Amino acid sequence: MRRVYLDHSATTPVDPEVAELMLTYYTTKFGNPSSIHSFGREAKKALEDARQQVANFIGAKPEEITFTSGGTEADNMAIIGAALANRKKGNHIIASAVEHHAVLDTCTYLEKQGYKLTVLPVDEYGLVKVEDVSAALTPETILVTIMHANNEVGTIQPIAEIGKLLKGKGIVFHTDAVQSLGKIPVNVDELGVDLLTASAHKIYGPKGVGCLYIRKGTRIQALVHGGGQERKRRSGTENTPGIIGFGKACELASQRMEEDNARIIDLRDKMIKGILDKIDCVQLNGHPTQRVPNNVNVSVEYIEGESMLLSLDMQGIAASSGSACTSGSLDPSHVLLAMGICHEIAHGSLRFTLGRDNTAEDVDHVLNVLPGIVERLRAMSPLYDKERGCESCTLKR
Ligand code: PLP
Repeated sequence: MRRVYLDHSATTPVDPEVAELMLTYYTTKFGNPSSIHSFGREAKKALEDARQQVANFIGAKPEEITFTSGGTEADNMAIIGAALANRKKGNHIIASAVEHHAVLDTCTYLEKQGYKLTVLPVDEYGLVKVEDVSAALTPETILVTIMHANNEVGTIQPIAEIGKLLKGKGIVFHTDAVQSLGKIPVNVDELGVDLLTASAHKIYGPKGVGCLYIRKGTRIQALVHGGGQERKRRSGTENTPGIIGFGKACELASQRMEEDNARIIDLRDKMIKGILDKIDCVQLNGHPTQRVPNNVNVSVEYIEGESMLLSLDMQGIAASSGSACTSGSLDPSHVLLAMGICHEIAHGSLRFTLGRDNTAEDVDHVLNVLPGIVERLRAMSPLYDKERGCESCTLKR
């Protein structure tokens, strides 16, 4: 059976060049980077080269990069670390309603500890308004955290404009760039952020590695204490092979991004058009143009995303019905709900995320099988009336 992987926002395969390089640091060059002997120095040198590669990719200085166990830890470190370091200045945090749970749940954790939290609404495309950020600021505001690109619908937020608004106000500005890195240009100065989260396994690097960019001068308290690694910001023996893989993945992404994107955008647009043309009562979720190149998120009325996913899986197609972390629970996506999409339609959502190795044949395969799947599931749905078709449909096209 043809297998088609269309879930690259959940995770990507590790690039063979990355995997090959990493293997060396598990086997022959296995030293602990804190050791002073030649094995340690060899690992330390490679670790620092990787730090430079990651820094280069986001326009940062190497000493501004702290490696973590991934995006989740970097988000926790940014938010809790900044909140603790600035506690004497104020206690108010601003986030958007469409943040990943690694951000939202960390903010609500702090709320339980006595911090004040404002969760900003988004429009129908999932966009935060800069005016809403401005209106939410109080003299107590110490941290604003707004993601760069959304993991479910791919909408790109106006981070640079928010950065301009916050500049010089003494408020820490964090962005979660896990879903934008490697897909669109990410430059910490252009975005005007103080803290930025990244993760290796979304850019053809290994799982369990990421980093937090910390602009020089930004105060942040460490959460993990011990041996003092990572300039005392994150103790623990470094995941040297993983970090080296992350560095290589950044280097490859910077070389390939433009070329990959041109192809991926064509495939994405073909897929969106094909789905909207071939299936009734379907809508595209997210911003029509301000979206990452690889995301196709649609709601199919009258049926459940999970049923479609299972049927697609039986045809060899891997997609998702929300973020990888929320699928598996029966709650509809908080992102779609925040965009004003009702429960029933949010339940009928499907996310396809394209990657480097996808081809036009992969997209054709989806366009060949999805209409039949939808028709079969709708035939079993008591809500669907084939005769009336889109007359009773509440979706925008
Ligand atoms: N932030 C966003 C926007 C994500 O999409 C993800 C993962 O899907 C994370 C954070 C968590 O990253 P990690 O899987 O590296 O912990």
